[in-house]
Amino acid sequence: MNMVPTIGIETHVELNTNSKMFCNCAVVETENPNENLCPTCLGLPGALPVPNLKAIESITMLALSANCSITKNGMFHRKNYFYPDLPKNYQISQFDLPVGVDGSLEIILDETKETVEIERVHMEEDTGKSIHKGTGRIDSATSTLLDFNRSGVPLVEIVTKPVIKSSKEAVSYIEELRQLVIDLKISEGKLEKGNLRFDANISVAKENDNELGVKVEIKNMNSLRSLEKAIDYEIERQTKLIESNEVVIQETRHWDEDKEVTSSMRSKEGSADYRYFSDPDLPNMILTDEFIDNIKKTIPTLPSEKRDKLSETGLSISESNYLGKSEEWIYNLYLKTQKITSDTKSTYNLITGELQGQLRKAEMEELPEWLTSEKLSEIIKMINENKISFTSGKEILTNLIQNEISPSKYAEDNNLIQDNDSDEIAKIVKNVVESNTEVVERIKDGEEKLVGFLVGQIIKSSKGNINPSIAKELLLKEL
Ligand SMILES: [Zn+2]
Repeated sequence: MNMVPTIGIETHVELNTNSKMFCNCAVVETENPNENLCPTCLGLPGALPVPNLKAIESITMLALSANCSITKNGMFHRKNYFYPDLPKNYQISQFDLPVGVDGSLEIILDETKETVEIERVHMEEDTGKSIHKGTGRIDSATSTLLDFNRSGVPLVEIVTKPVIKSSKEAVSYIEELRQLVIDLKISEGKLEKGNLRFDANISVAKENDNELGVKVEIKNMNSLRSLEKAIDYEIERQTKLIESNEVVIQETRHWDEDKEVTSSMRSKEGSADYRYFSDPDLPNMILTDEFIDNIKKTIPTLPSEKRDKLSETGLSISESNYLGKSEEWIYNLYLKTQKITSDTKSTYNLITGELQGQLRKAEMEELPEWLTSEKLSEIIKMINENKISFTSGKEILTNLIQNEISPSKYAEDNNLIQDNDSDEIAKIVKNVVESNTEVVERIKDGEEKLVGFLVGQIIKSSKGNINPSIAKELLLKEL
């Protein structure tokens, strides 16, 4: 019996606004707890929320970019529950009128494009942080500390429909969403900082069942690696239960990073448990056509559009996806350089391989201003025209990263130009053959490995100025 897993993902994206969602407190990274607080984000009596316009612009931009329909007459709801890091006893969120509904996002799996349908995109505020001393988990901690710096930071929640079929697809979806919020410049998009936090709803059903299986929610996955492992673990756990006719319980489970298992946290709450009602402190959220049109005008090139542009230069889908998700300057450098060289493969390989590798080694995060696409194409052209070897190209690049040099002048000054004058090379080849008669005999007897030795001798006599492939070709002719 084949089992079919179905996965839905809820992602919280922390926006990069200057101030919090409903008050003037600054959103800053600080080690000091409880620095940025006010009566509103502490939930003190009488404090009133005022929505952050920038955050609403950001979520509208995201919803439009994820192909959602925009709710023009929306509102905020209160999601009621108790937790020490939520002093109001409710979170301001959205219920049946989210900013965006029915969207989709293109994702890449190796060389194919897939679509993940988006159910909703809604606005809410973050809670404070509970620090459970001792074990780090509430059920076994010795004490709990509260930090309200994060309380009220704007969050966008993006919920997919249950359409994802594997952990690999889930990872690719998060990578795409992350790139989207970075390109839209609405979030830092750093997973390690918790800018993107995700939960997965996983169910497993028998292949021919018309209904989805019982849904289990997994929390606490804070990296793509843990997302992938947790999903794989949970699919296997549920499959085993179903195969042995046991019951899968609808619940929320915690991913244990160290033990690499999920464990039960609590039975799954339904939306009725939160007693949602519209927030009487906040006016309705009316998004006018003019507001939406203005946001549309500010949307930059989207990741999927970048991929299409890259594919047009002749790159494969996975190569386009890789470059499209690289930093902006790498993407632009490739496009400009490829336009000059018209050589897709060499340009892609030199930039993503050699150049990025050398920059990493030199611990440089950006390109020096003099390292232009013109200079890079000069190196690529010299290699392609056999004027210099690839090794010399690497040497020129190393120097170009450090100093403002002219690649062709550097090649001349440092004797890197290969001698491609066949008459000249022919003389050298003849000399080498004549002074290595014993080796030549052995090659003729079948020891083909020794060809490399003679090519080496030829390059040595030319002081490295001969292109190895031309030398080999002439040598074989001579033999
Ligand atoms: Zn505040």
